[in-house]
Amino acid sequence: MTQPAPPPRTLPAIDPDNRAYWTRGRDGVLAIFKCHSCHAYVHPPVPFCPACDTVAVSPQAVSGRGTVVTFTVNHKQWVPGLPVPYVLALVALEEAPEVRLVANITHCDPAEVTFGMAVEVWFEPAEDLWIPQFRPARSAA
Ligand SMILES: [Zn+2]
Repeated sequence: MTQPAPPPRTLPAIDPDNRAYWTRGRDGVLAIFKCHSCHAYVHPPVPFCPACDTVAVSPQAVSGRGTVVTFTVNHKQWVPGLPVPYVLALVALEEAPEVRLVANITHCDPAEVTFGMAVEVWFEPAEDLWIPQFRPARSAA
């Protein structure tokens, strides 16, 4: 399914902690902070592990596969040029279901999105950032 032009976005402020999350998509990598001590995933990225308080955290590549935990279909055009309707979802990562990413579900009709739907990451370029987005998984896990 052909996608419309990317919507106008307010881009995040980049800092040393979130840089990998917003830029590693250039190489097709979804990078999530992981603790080297207790192995918990940490998201949003912060320079310590909330589970064990160590500072031994760094971005690690994850598969980019996940499931839709919940979602909403938005029909209101909040800003000029925003294509509607669109899906805003919480996606749980395969390796770390406790990590929930807020993203759009694209490459399908919004009416096709379901709870528990298998999805995979793709990256929408925006200036010098690569926004993690999700689309239906090509092959069900
Ligand atoms: Zn930890």
